[in-house]
Amino acid sequence: MIERIGKILEKKVCDNCLGRQFSQLLTGTTNRERGRALRFFAAMLYEAGELKNVDESNFIGFEFRTKKIKTSKKRCWLCDDIFENLERFSRAALKKIKKYEFSTFLVGCRPPRELLKREEELWEKTGIEFCEPFKAEFNREVGKLIEKTTGKKGETLKPDIVILFDLENWKIEVKSNPLYIFGYYQKLVRGIPQCKWEHYRTSVEQIIARPIMKVSKGVDHSFHGMGREDVSARCLGWRPFVIEIKEPKKRKLDLKKITEEINKSSSVKVRSLRFVDMETVRKVKEARPDKTYRALVVFERPVSEKELKKLRMLVGEIKQKTPTRVLHRRSDITRKRMVKQVKVKKLSPRKAELIIKAEAGLYIKELISGDDGRTSPSVSEILGVKSECRELDVIKIDRVNL
Ligand SMILES: [Zn+2]
Repeated sequence: MIERIGKILEKKVCDNCLGRQFSQLLTGTTNRERGRALRFFAAMLYEAGELKNVDESNFIGFEFRTKKIKTSKKRCWLCDDIFENLERFSRAALKKIKKYEFSTFLVGCRPPRELLKREEELWEKTGIEFCEPFKAEFNREVGKLIEKTTGKKGETLKPDIVILFDLENWKIEVKSNPLYIFGYYQKLVRGIPQCKWEHYRTSVEQIIARPIMKVSKGVDHSFHGMGREDVSARCLGWRPFVIEIKEPKKRKLDLKKITEEINKSSSVKVRSLRFVDMETVRKVKEARPDKTYRALVVFERPVSEKELKKLRMLVGEIKQKTPTRVLHRRSDITRKRMVKQVKVKKLSPRKAELIIKAEAGLYIKELISGDDGRTSPSVSEILGVKSECRELDVIKIDRVNL
């Protein structure tokens, strides 16, 4: 220990930087206190003549019986007096985070490259057995100061905001983690896509996002639906979704008010909004609930009631190659999906309404048209009549526990 202390004190170092090299010894104290205690001890060894080659300015402020120390204004060789300025760092950060609403935060830092080099150099001389990196102490100590002034909690796992000190460039960056809001939506009209899309003026996503963006003051959003429906299809069943708001300034939002705002729209309704975490996004994306559809089908020639009864044969496994209409953006694979239930209602000689319950991932338009034999069996194939889906609605999405 004495040898190590001597080696560290060959250069002028502050209490924090001295104590940090022995951080793994004793708990319930700070590096600053460790450093202070060691410096006292070192000063006595120095006076007793047992410590040679040390930088005398390490002992400025000590009164020796036998020696006189020249005062000088040397800064800490290792941290360049960063630890003397923690209050200033924390004050600057407080200014920056004022515009954010948060309950938890995390402090991070990018130390100057030269500092890291000096730290490595010191460790090579003294070993790393008991030390703690500069970064860890800086983050913790600034975190403590911010906790003290704001009353907010430092947290590593899911902090609301991250405060990053760029010590190389003397800059502070604040990153606000996304807000995730879960809910269910209905799309009551045809002709709008689920997610923002350049060809369309609006989307389910934008209608839901608008009032949330306004109050949260976020900078962007993205939408995660439990499956999707066609632009031309309505979704009358309640579809689970998570909307992600990026870089929000406000996080305590009145979801009841937001629900009311969104529901002023005549095309999209939402219910049961609540805050969730990122984990729920994964669950929503991975869930594969059964869905029930209403399809308005038009036949090329009149079809009798008796013929329509044959459509019960749709129940069972359907082999479906990737539909021609999406082949340009999806790989060509054959999927097997179950049709679980089919109900048929004749509307006119050439029109019928089909209620179809199927596994997630089955393309319903192709189940009807047959897509030139790429989907089998299909309505066209069973009836031997070219059939087309004119209107499609999702009327029920089976409940998934989240
Ligand atoms: Zn220092």
